[in-house]
Amino acid sequence: MSSNTNNIDWSFYKKNGFTPLVNVSGTMTSIGASIMIDDAQSAMRLISPYFIKMHELQSSASKVISELTGSEAGFITASAGAGITLSIAAAMTGKNPGLIEKLPYSDGLKTEVVVQSGHLCNYGGSVDQAIRLSGAKTISFGQSTQVQDHQLYDAINENTVAGLYVVSHHVVEYGQMSFDSFCKVCHEKGVVVIVDAASEYDLKTFINKGADIVIYSSHKFLGGPTAGIVAGSSDLIQASYMQNIGIGRVMKVGKESIFGAIAALHAWKVRDHDAIRNSETNALKLWQKIASSFEGVQADIVDDSTHNPLSRLKISINKELFNSSAASVARALSQCEIPIIVRDHEIELGYFYLDPCNLANGHAEIVSSSLQNVLKSALKKPLSEVDLDKHRNSSIQGYIDWK
Ligand SMILES: *Cc1c(COP(=O)(O)O)cnc(C)c1O
Repeated sequence: MSSNTNNIDWSFYKKNGFTPLVNVSGTMTSIGASIMIDDAQSAMRLISPYFIKMHELQSSASKVISELTGSEAGFITASAGAGITLSIAAAMTGKNPGLIEKLPYSDGLKTEVVVQSGHLCNYGGSVDQAIRLSGAKTISFGQSTQVQDHQLYDAINENTVAGLYVVSHHVVEYGQMSFDSFCKVCHEKGVVVIVDAASEYDLKTFINKGADIVIYSSHKFLGGPTAGIVAGSSDLIQASYMQNIGIGRVMKVGKESIFGAIAALHAWKVRDHDAIRNSETNALKLWQKIASSFEGVQADIVDDSTHNPLSRLKISINKELFNSSAASVARALSQCEIPIIVRDHEIELGYFYLDPCNLANGHAEIVSSSLQNVLKSALKKPLSEVDLDKHRNSSIQGYIDWK
């Protein structure tokens, strides 16, 4: 099933007093992550009136998670962020309920989690804080853009409980340890390997290569409800699931989200990935044609940096030639009558991306006409400049301004 078949009823926004949006930024949780697929929506509605034994429901989740990832077991929690905290807690306490109830008090336990410096990113919250929430400590090693194996050997000691490996466009893209090297050193030293693969389409590789736990988001590429999917070896998964009597209780996920995530996993098996890719490519070409017709604007279709089967349109703007910056074009798009949210995390470098992975019917066309209008109006009169420092602080400013 394709999320591209979704029809949007625009009156929803007006009726509820919300700002309409078109998302070409990717699966950003700050604007609702993804279009939830029909199967997940139906599953959530279906289970709503029923009482059900949670352990049974989670066993059912475990089965489909194992089937798709190749892991021994799995369970669903509130989010991938929660999955990081719970799996590190599991590595610390094992299946000892007494220890589980004491967390985040962790005296006497091994508490050090090794992470390469370039992996300590922010996905809306920080990886470091997701680790520390469990009562563990983050031990970063290497320098942000250069890591060598001896630095990991040196960082591991008798207090090391786990190594966390983050796969994301947010991590530093070069000079990092490969997963193979990271896993080899950790396992040689008897350290549990946890992978944050929240946004990765490939559900098999990391388990296949020996990861002890791998974490995915249900609400990103899978198009499920907000939830985290934790896959791994039986003992560690059980120990992570058991954290629900402790720190996991505040990361609770309900029956509807578990059942919805199960449905999203089943749907992933039969999704027509080629058809989706084709319609994404059509959108990219449509936008590319428009953008590249303007002097000083370059539009290239580029592959995803973490090798997901997804391409994006990279729009680079030469300010000398075009007279308006990439940041000002991105802002103008976000101020259209139907605001268009672009992928702008590297905007100060003079480019942004249009991500086609979450287009409902008609969205591609809205993006192309708005893009054309914004670029045309910039030709008539250069767009007002964006204060990049202010822009850099905008996510916290959003919270400060919230009423
Ligand atoms: C999105 C993301 C997260 C957070 O996922 P949630 O399920 O929203 O908590 C964590 N790590 C990475 C790499 C992500 O991309």
